[in-house]
Amino acid sequence: MLLNRNLRLRLAAALEWSAVDKSLVLIALLIPLYFQYILWSLYVLNRTDRDALIHVDVVHFFMVVEAWLILAGIGLALVGVLLRRRWPNLLLYQYVTLQFYALSLVLMSYSIGTLSFCAGVVLLGGPIFGFILHDRLPVWLAFITALFAIVGLSYASVFGYIPYAPVRMVSTDQASDLFWMNSTLFFAAPFLAFLTLMADQMLAWWRVREERIHQLSRTDALTNLHNRRSILDLLDQELVRIQRKPIPLSVVILDLDHFKKVNDTWGHPMGDRVLQIAARVLRETLRESDHVGRYGGEEFMLILPDTRQADALIVLERCRQQLTAADVITDNQTRLQVTASFGLVCQDKMPLLASQQLIQHADEALYAAKANGRNRIEVHALVA
Ligand code: GH3
Ligand code: MG
Ligand code: MG
Repeated sequence: MLLNRNLRLRLAAALEWSAVDKSLVLIALLIPLYFQYILWSLYVLNRTDRDALIHVDVVHFFMVVEAWLILAGIGLALVGVLLRRRWPNLLLYQYVTLQFYALSLVLMSYSIGTLSFCAGVVLLGGPIFGFILHDRLPVWLAFITALFAIVGLSYASVFGYIPYAPVRMVSTDQASDLFWMNSTLFFAAPFLAFLTLMADQMLAWWRVREERIHQLSRTDALTNLHNRRSILDLLDQELVRIQRKPIPLSVVILDLDHFKKVNDTWGHPMGDRVLQIAARVLRETLRESDHVGRYGGEEFMLILPDTRQADALIVLERCRQQLTAADVITDNQTRLQVTASFGLVCQDKMPLLASQQLIQHADEALYAAKANGRNRIEVHALVA
């Protein structure tokens, strides 16, 4: 793990920030870059061989530009601070800050050459980072602005309207080549490292979040069992599996008995608690490889792969007994008796039935269990 978890969470939280806050982060990242440019300018102006490396007056000019950019950045940040309370999701602010990012960095890259590594990093880094964090349209627009500006400046310098890389003296020896190589790295490397690290961390978090959402979309919130969609998917998967191998599959629908009375007598929260206890008993009584889902209000579906009817009956009898034995105590210490009726169908003969047919048969068996006095198991026998 590249970063510790705490920092990772804080970085990832940026995904949930408001549009204005995300834009403020962008400005906070830009201002050090302008300072970095000024630092570099001061350094190169103090070199004894500076006249062989740079056009001194142009460097002065760009230092002034950078100073103005810093002021503009601070001004933009102040506007953001004012906006963030009242209009935290003002899209216009994102458009402005992203355009500011694109244009100011293109200008900086232009000073040392539009076709340099730095310009490439700016052009590519923006979208990588931007698409994760910001709305798509302002990022696209900023990207197009940057692309047009870089291409436009490049052609303008080819046709002689403006100089190419106005800060640079044409390199004449290895020492100046080395200087420009180091300068390019000085500008590009921290920017590149930062972008890559942030993109990696945010995408890592994205994957965690997606997995969690996937999990939630398949889980019943009250009982933590599979929800209806998930248990039906599992039934389909198991049916596909036994198409290839003739192994038995038992499907059960069970329904708690007189559950309405629990709600009516003890209130809905107590009813919920009974559902949770019943879910836990079922999960604990069955094997890991069996699937348990909440099929409806107080109805559960059990899928017992590789289980013949006789074995399923033994398992279900154990479930029935465990449910009856479960300690369900109300707030005033009354013990409630929970029972359930079970409808079983076992797919162990050809032809294979569709999931809907199996469910219908299990339902019919459940209906029979209710009719025959509840707290019992009935089987729907398939005729070959
Ligand atoms: P039977 O023995 O014939 O199944 O009778 P029953 O009372 O269990 O059946 P009925 O279908 O009449 O009632 C089911 C009740 O389950 C009605 C509904 O309010 C309750 N129920 C459904 N979902 C929930 C839930 O999430 N929480 C609670 N507390 N009750 C629920
Ligand atoms: Mg019921
Ligand atoms: Mg019911």
